[in-house]
Amino acid sequence: MVCRLNRRRDRLKESLSEEGLSGALLADPANIRYLCGFSGEGILAVGEALVLVTDPRYGEQTEEAQGCRVVVTRERLLDGLKEALKDGFWGERVGLEGSLPYGTYLRLLEVFPDVGWTKASCLEALRSVKDEGEIALIKEAARIGDRIFEGLLSLLRPGVTEREVAAELVYRLHREGEGSSFEPIVAFGPNSSKPHAAPSDRKLVEGEPVLVDFGVLLRGYASDMTRTFWFGEPEEEFLKVHSVVLEAQNAALEAARPGMDVVELDGVARKVIEDAGYGENFGHGLGHGVGLEVHEPPRISPKGEGKLEEGMVFTVEPGIYLPGRWGVRTEDMVVLGRDGPEVITSSPKFVRIS
Ligand code: ZN
Ligand code: ZN
Repeated sequence: MVCRLNRRRDRLKESLSEEGLSGALLADPANIRYLCGFSGEGILAVGEALVLVTDPRYGEQTEEAQGCRVVVTRERLLDGLKEALKDGFWGERVGLEGSLPYGTYLRLLEVFPDVGWTKASCLEALRSVKDEGEIALIKEAARIGDRIFEGLLSLLRPGVTEREVAAELVYRLHREGEGSSFEPIVAFGPNSSKPHAAPSDRKLVEGEPVLVDFGVLLRGYASDMTRTFWFGEPEEEFLKVHSVVLEAQNAALEAARPGMDVVELDGVARKVIEDAGYGENFGHGLGHGVGLEVHEPPRISPKGEGKLEEGMVFTVEPGIYLPGRWGVRTEDMVVLGRDGPEVITSSPKFVRIS
């Protein structure tokens, strides 16, 4: 573990110096966990050494932290950091995460008036290429997700509500994994046409679709999968739309390679959907990276930036949504290898429930 963390830090320091930065200040818990193993909240100063500052709520938990000096302060975190740092720790230009709250930024200007703060681009994609240990955990999370999905099918009986299924799902995610990587989506009938529908008291009736989107959390790592199927005998157009979505997904899976632009990969799936006449009904990106956060770089969408790299883990999730009627989304996770993606979600794409 220590040598894995060292590699991550060496890579970060290299990228920082390529950007002309002498250090960084991180506040995103996922980035902090990635660099020093600490799963609580705090701030991490990266300069000639690493200094983690947190408050007494996480005092005992700091045992997790490796390869960094730990400061537990009762003061405000930045004041605690100021006391802990030697003069000259930062150097002149220090990088920040784009997600840093504006209030924290203003405090930084007050507490460290001599430091030149700037956004560090390298922090955005810090975690996008996964190492072996991360990939193993994500695969295990995906496997647990498949198992939970299988068990879920028996809950789908007429009269059960979206909220009841979602609650049972959350319970199983905690029992079989270590939690839910996001609020699950369970949508029946017309609710499935809203890509991010919140579970309601709607009862399941025969003759409508069911969309389930959920993810497992396992030792900090997430999984994410979606399946859409029909309860009863499917409408003809549903079957057609479902197969267009699968075709779009397969086209993207066949095309994905290291070095490919994320916009190009999105375009491969989008073209299949457009050619089938449903271009207007696919309003979100094709996929996103998954790791310590369920949504992280790379963002595979028409607005995405950057290229795919070997070792990235991301979702491929095209969808077609017909407002007021229903929607279909199929989402699998992949690990990108040198020659293409390995799909790590193995639940059946379509199941008949009745
Ligand atoms: Zn997703
Ligand atoms: Zn999802």
